[in-house]
Amino acid sequence: MNKPHHPASHSNFIRQIVEADLASGKHVKIRTRFPPEPNGYLHFGHAKSILLNFGLAAEYGGGCNLRFDDTNPEKEEQEYVDSIVDSVNWLGADYGGKVLYASDYFEFMYQAAVYLVTSGNAYVDSQTADEMKRNRGDFTHPGIDSPFRNRSSSENLDLLGRMKAGEFPDETHVLRAKIDMKSPNLNLRDPAIYRIKKATHHRTGDKWCIYPMYTYAHPIEDAVEGITHSLCTLEFEDQRPFYDWLLEKLAEGGLLKRPLPRQVEFARVNLTHVMLSKRLLIQLVEGGHVDGWDDPRMPTLAGARRRGYTAEGFRMFAERIGVSKANQTIDFTILEDCMREHLNEIAPRRMAVLDPIKLVIENYPEGKEELMDVPNHPKHAEMGKRQVPFSRELWIERDDYMETPSKGYFRLFPGNKVRLRYAYAIECIGYDKATNTVRCKYLEETRSGTPGADSVKVKGNIHWVSAKHAHEAEVHLYDRLFKSEHPKDVEDLNPDSKKTITTQLEPSLRHTQEYHFQFERHGYFVHNQSGFGRTVTLRDSWAKN
Ligand code: ATP
Ligand code: MG
Repeated sequence: MNKPHHPASHSNFIRQIVEADLASGKHVKIRTRFPPEPNGYLHFGHAKSILLNFGLAAEYGGGCNLRFDDTNPEKEEQEYVDSIVDSVNWLGADYGGKVLYASDYFEFMYQAAVYLVTSGNAYVDSQTADEMKRNRGDFTHPGIDSPFRNRSSSENLDLLGRMKAGEFPDETHVLRAKIDMKSPNLNLRDPAIYRIKKATHHRTGDKWCIYPMYTYAHPIEDAVEGITHSLCTLEFEDQRPFYDWLLEKLAEGGLLKRPLPRQVEFARVNLTHVMLSKRLLIQLVEGGHVDGWDDPRMPTLAGARRRGYTAEGFRMFAERIGVSKANQTIDFTILEDCMREHLNEIAPRRMAVLDPIKLVIENYPEGKEELMDVPNHPKHAEMGKRQVPFSRELWIERDDYMETPSKGYFRLFPGNKVRLRYAYAIECIGYDKATNTVRCKYLEETRSGTPGADSVKVKGNIHWVSAKHAHEAEVHLYDRLFKSEHPKDVEDLNPDSKKTITTQLEPSLRHTQEYHFQFERHGYFVHNQSGFGRTVTLRDSWAKN
């Protein structure tokens, strides 16, 4: 058996359960699943669930299913199915190339319901929704049996068949499991398992007018697919007894094979500064507060990808936060740090002036050009070098010059020397108000890579772009979508979450095929169909002081 070895910090209670089940021989191979409901795009919380489920399967030599939990006809759409498949692929999850749909099991689920009725484990209830709610009781009061609870199985079977045939309007009857109206667990007080809903389903069309409840459908989906460990978030903990009850009944009746799947709960991931709930994200999209589900500011995986976040960064994040039984809210900075860490390794460096001001080197000959050798990555020589043109007039950052320097300011001010990265040391002369240019002269013997490079000591080291060669381009500066740590609604949106500026980029960025970059001293940027956009700054600018 392939039993992987984990350092203690990488172990968690789910791995322990899996290892025990493999060791005892209960399972020879494990099978997990990721079961999204196609009612929205996937968000960062789903990344955790995907990486956990597919990760476990990969580690223990098992499999993981991608299954759409499409049992609710009203909110589901093909667009969501497509985007979810796309995001799962992007994260690198291997579902064996086959996408599964809960709706493919509708017929089986119905046969299971027929079995429950004939074996005395389910009945058709014809109380109104209000009556049902009232008679359910609450934590301090036991429920009251429905007057329809003791219908004969032939009457139940007849009614169920007529529900399916479309003879009754919505909400006139429901099929309920017959368990115990006095159970201290409210979920066992005869939960509804089928309801009438005359709605068109995105895959089965109008074939069905009764639909299984999620709590009934989900365990059956798991069992039919031979799932061994059904991982879900904590809010389903109280559903576990029903999950087990249902599968046990169906196994007793020979409808399901053993071993049955086991539900294991873990804590949902919450992040500061975002909302992780499809219901809330839909409001942002429909309210026009963002440019669609894949807006680079959205906490969706489609948005993250356009933002320049990486799948590897999400893997690092998932591993770092681990799985726990206690609800956790993770600081958004942790996710950003994972992205920085990965991008730091893979992103080629470029020079980009985001807030440009001209610098004129008065003693540099007009018309002269030099090509400077610039490494693409300070630590990865294998990423090569490029040549960047240098000339008499350069763009530099506006805040790299100060007429009157503040304390500790080491960059350009009259009389001070700095290095133009990969080029020369220069001495600032002053500022020409008529032409709005910073004036300087260069020290010819200090060219980078030559013996004279170190002959002048400077404290500041600034980037630049040759004005004549620069690629003028718009860059989108994205920031956090919400200004508050625990956003509740659109009131908490950060009004400055997107700014578009006109910048001067080094010429190699004019026709680039690369996706990720580090703009030196600024941060990580992405280049895609929406132009250049900032993925994340170099350092956390939201740190609490
Ligand atoms: P939402 O409330 O955003 O709609 P959901 O749980 O209803 O989330 P599903 O499509 O049902 O979304 O989720 C698919 C899987 O992803 C489920 O197994 C669910 O437990 C898991 N999941 C959803 N949100 C999170 C989260 N924040 N952290 C971890 N897992 C999550
Ligand atoms: Mg949901």
